[in-house]
This record gives sequence, structure tokens and C-alpha cells, in this order.
Amino acid sequence: MSNYVIETNKLTKQYRNQISVKELSIHVPRGKIYGLLGRNGAGKTTTMKMLLNLVQPTSGTISIFNEDYLKCPLKTYRKIGALIETPCFYENLTGTENLKILARLRGQHRKDAIDYALSIVGLDNGIHKTFGMYSLGMKQRLGIAAAIMHEPEVLILDEPINGLDPIGIHEIRNYLLQLCNENGTTILISSHVLSEIEQIADIIGVMHEGCLLEETNMNDLHKRNRKYVEYEVSDVYKATLILERKLQYNDYTIVDKHFIRLFSNIDDSAKINSCFIENGIAVTQVNIKEEKLEDYFSSLIGGGKIG
Ligand code: ATP
Repeated sequence: MSNYVIETNKLTKQYRNQISVKELSIHVPRGKIYGLLGRNGAGKTTTMKMLLNLVQPTSGTISIFNEDYLKCPLKTYRKIGALIETPCFYENLTGTENLKILARLRGQHRKDAIDYALSIVGLDNGIHKTFGMYSLGMKQRLGIAAAIMHEPEVLILDEPINGLDPIGIHEIRNYLLQLCNENGTTILISSHVLSEIEQIADIIGVMHEGCLLEETNMNDLHKRNRKYVEYEVSDVYKATLILERKLQYNDYTIVDKHFIRLFSNIDDSAKINSCFIENGIAVTQVNIKEEKLEDYFSSLIGGGKIG
């Protein structure tokens, strides 16, 4: 029996000529936060909709709680809470009234489920307003309240921080961490903002143009961040010749026509610097830096920027 609460194998969705999700295989372990990261249009929402049986896959398989999702009984879906895209509620009803309808539709809930969910998302003050009068952030909070009110074992949240202000983002992030750490809730969360995912995820899946480019443990990813020395030089091409021919050094990347990064032998930077100067290359700056996750991801998705 697999330890993954959600597992997909070569999951694919094609809309006419467009492949929105291509042979996606993700593995979401129990009790962890899995961040699905990708730019707009990468296929995150389509993936989540397939997991929730809202969109029919073209091919591939999904297993949820070790069951083929097509055979999953309704009670399995009751163990899942989800927020997909912008939440929809009755405009002329208050937050509480909207949640009451949902609670009735879903069946069994703890007695104080609605008050509990509203206080968790910090909406207890705005409950008398009708949904139509809510700000975008309040709407998003109500969507999260609806997703968590039955205390699901698994939460699937599609860009849940959209529309929230920085304090709201901080509050929701802490709440999700608490849910995971204290209740053992498994969370699959999508975002196009790297810094958001970076702060809460245990595992990260990077999607680009429908494909999963990387699935990795956040700790391993941090270890991979490398230190480097960046030189600003008058002639990058000449600098590479000196590095390779005179110093037998080839662990470098060219940033542009004036900047070059050297990844190993950081302690030799003074020697390399003098060698450049002796060979007629002007060095205007030498900085020791660390490769940021953002750099890593933009190189992964081919130069584009996430976040
Ligand atoms: P966003 O954050 O912008 O929603 P995303 O990563 O969630 O991005 P999706 O919404 O899954 O991406 O969309 C992936 C691709 O599939 C997009 O090019 C989108 O236009 C296309 N797509 C999504 N739904 C449909 C549909 N019902 N019919 C046709 N194409 C669709």
C-alpha cells in the first residue's frame, strides 16, 4: 500500500488541440504540504479539477487514499476539502448563511463547524455582511472556510492567497502550517509565487506548459543552492579563454557580455582575479553570492520568471 494520499500516473488532459496537462505523475505524501508551482496557464487548476473529478482526464490514472479515483466512493470525497479558482457563493446571503447551506448539503459536521471555520480564517467580524459586499480577500477567506469546515484529511487549494493582503497571507500560511503539523492534514496547494510555496511546502512540484519538470523535497532544494563568485569583466569571452586554458577551470556560466559566475574554487577568487588582470581583462566587481531558488527555477523553466 502506497504512503501517498494522492498519486497520479501519466495524467493527461487534452482540450481539442491543446494539451493542458501532459503525462503528469505527482506523489503527495500523507501529512505533508505539497506545493504545485507554475506560471499562469501551466496546468495547475486543470490538474486539481481532475483530482476532484470535476474534469475528466484524457488518459492516465489518479489514486486517492489508495483507490482508483473513478471507483472512489462518495465518503472518500467527504475526506477532501477544496478551493478551486474564485469561490462562488450566493451574493445576497451572509457568509454564515452560505456556509449553513453547504453544511446541510455535506451532512455531518461538528456543532460549531461554521463558527470554527469563520474564526480560523479571520472572518468572524464580517459575518453580517452579504457575500456581494465582501472584498476579494474576504471572498477568498470564505472559500477557505468552506473548504476546511468539515475538517478534511486532505485539502486541495488552488492559489488560495489570491486577493489577500500581506497580513492575510501570513495568517492563512500559519493556519495551513498548523493544520498540517497539529492535525496531520495533507495539503496540496498551487501558486505562481515561488516565495509563498517556499515558505510552507515540504515537497514542491514544478509545472510548466502542462508538464512536471521537477518534484523535489524542499530541504534538498535548499541544499542545492550554490555559492558562486560573480565577476564583472571588460571581456567575458576572453575571460572564459583564460579560465579554461590557463586555469583549467570550466565550472562557470556566462550571465551576459560583462558578467560571469564561477561556482567552485571560491577561495581562489583572488588568484583568478590577478590572472584576469595580468591578461589585460579589467575587473570592475567581484562579489560572492548565493544562487537563489528563483534563479534555479527560472533556469528550469527556460528563462521565464516565477513569482
Ligand atoms: P492559472 O493560474 O492561470 O489558472 P493554471 O496553471 O491553473 O493557470 P490551467 O487553468 O490549468 O492553468 O490552464 C492550463 C491550460 O489549459 C491553459 O492554456 C488554459 O487556457 C487551458 N484550459 C483550461 N481549461 C480549459 C477548457 N475548459 N477548455 C480549453 N482549454 C482550457
